[in-house]
Amino acid sequence: MAEQTPGIAVSYVRHQGTTETRKFEPLPSDHDLVGTSCFGCGKDFKPGDVTTMVAVGPGDDLEQRKKAQRGFYNSVALVIHWACATGTDA
Ligand SMILES: [Zn+2]
Repeated sequence: MAEQTPGIAVSYVRHQGTTETRKFEPLPSDHDLVGTSCFGCGKDFKPGDVTTMVAVGPGDDLEQRKKAQRGFYNSVALVIHWACATGTDA
């Protein structure tokens, strides 16, 4: 689940040796990301926005850092609009 961090939508993704960008369905009005900010454009997420997550690495978790060296780990990830990540509209 997404985590509320002031100003930035942060979550986690599980790396399994792939770099495929996952496209998430439009946000429902009661999703916990609504009202948090996109790291790409700084605008708040609204109901209906299509999003993806951009992995930024294993963070400071030592176990995840070790796993990252093998390509299978839980990464800190920024939630951003699909269009901000890919340049294409939903
Ligand atoms: Zn954006």
